[in-house]
Amino acid sequence: HNDPARVIEADRAHVWHHMLQHRALETSDPRIIVEGRGMRVWDITGKEHLDAVSGGVWTVNVGYGRERIADAVRDQLVKMCYFAGVQGSVPGARFSEALIEKMPGLSRVYFANSGSEANEKAFKMVRQISHKHHGGRKSKILYRERDYHGTTIACLSAGGQMERNAQYGPFVPEFVMVPHCLEYRAQDGLAGADYGVRAAEAIEEVILREGPDTVGALCLEPITAGGGIIVPPKGYWEKVQEICAKYDILLHIDEVVCGLGRTGTWFGYQQFGVKPDIVTMAKGVASGYAAISCCVTTEAVFEKFKDASDPMAHFRDISTFGGCASGPVAALENLHILEEEDLLANSTRMGAYLQEGLSQLMEKHALIGDVRGMGLFAGAELVADRATREPLAEKQVQAVVADCLRQGVIIGATNRSVPGFNNVLLFAPALIAGRAEIDEILAAVDGALGRVTG
Ligand code: PMP
Repeated sequence: HNDPARVIEADRAHVWHHMLQHRALETSDPRIIVEGRGMRVWDITGKEHLDAVSGGVWTVNVGYGRERIADAVRDQLVKMCYFAGVQGSVPGARFSEALIEKMPGLSRVYFANSGSEANEKAFKMVRQISHKHHGGRKSKILYRERDYHGTTIACLSAGGQMERNAQYGPFVPEFVMVPHCLEYRAQDGLAGADYGVRAAEAIEEVILREGPDTVGALCLEPITAGGGIIVPPKGYWEKVQEICAKYDILLHIDEVVCGLGRTGTWFGYQQFGVKPDIVTMAKGVASGYAAISCCVTTEAVFEKFKDASDPMAHFRDISTFGGCASGPVAALENLHILEEEDLLANSTRMGAYLQEGLSQLMEKHALIGDVRGMGLFAGAELVADRATREPLAEKQVQAVVADCLRQGVIIGATNRSVPGFNNVLLFAPALIAGRAEIDEILAAVDGALGRVTG
């Protein structure tokens, strides 16, 4: 049954891939990955690849083939596979405790299965608080251009990559977009902290336009991931925090990508000294060994629900598999691995090495207009012209990705089908990466850029 030809045939005939892959299916052979060790994966034809994007979408933070996680999950499944998880489970309690230790100021963990679901929970909390404490008026949720929060209708309503979302409308009301904070594409020519403060002030303008007493929360990625690795400029977060405090607006940070060590601290917001009210996380929580996500909040926010007039309100939020035992078991082992192998420090060290390498490639390749990132999370924005910053055409960006793939290195790229959104190469290797692997990635990109032609 695992005969490659038959598997590929079944895959072609029946699996509903994402649409870009279907487009590729007509012309090429999408990989079916069958095995992984560390940072290496093998496809169904036996070809080896170095994975520079941790499972395609920056998920497998601790790398492939972790028997320790698999063993713990197996033991748990045999002992107690499932009993309405959120009601209380040994793994759930132990993982919550370990997690909260890494998040000073926060205290309550809600379990779900995906990043989208964790964000849904956060959005629902904002609406609940609005009803209970503000007569239903403070229910608007602000989201940022280029940010992404998931696949559900509410998450798409909060999606800052609007041109892709249009087909799913009509959207959930009372989601309002604020401008992005990509310095490289700042429209008013400002730079550094001047731009950072200005970009945050643009949020305040939206709040004032909408009416501060109608805005319940501001939802932001700490570093915009799929929208092009946008590290907010200096001055931005201080001002954002100040604005949230001034207008009594909850700050919801979406750590689905940055959480659990990706940028070199446990959470991305910790790089900037931010104090969030709500934090959501998913991918790296169990590095893909189990499906688990969390929505974490402060005791102060949690208190707002304590005397809920509808005692069933939270019960209606308990999803069947949220906190299912295998999730927190895998998450706890994942967290121990990050800690024992000092992978956060490695992310910082190797991330700096990766960015240095990409910056050096700029000297050789005029196609790279900007390099940015934090920890093992980096982007290289490709341009047709450095002076005008005209984005490189998507076809050429994809040619670079395909060239790397032929060399056996899997990298990513933003793909937004709109100029200015589809030209950033993405790198997010597992946090175990060493110099040798980074060198291999850089060499592949170097070679690929050298071969790109108009
Ligand atoms: N938030 C961010 C920042 C993400 O990148 C993603 C997934 N790409 C999500 C939320 C949604 O997570 P999931 O796919 O697990 O629903």
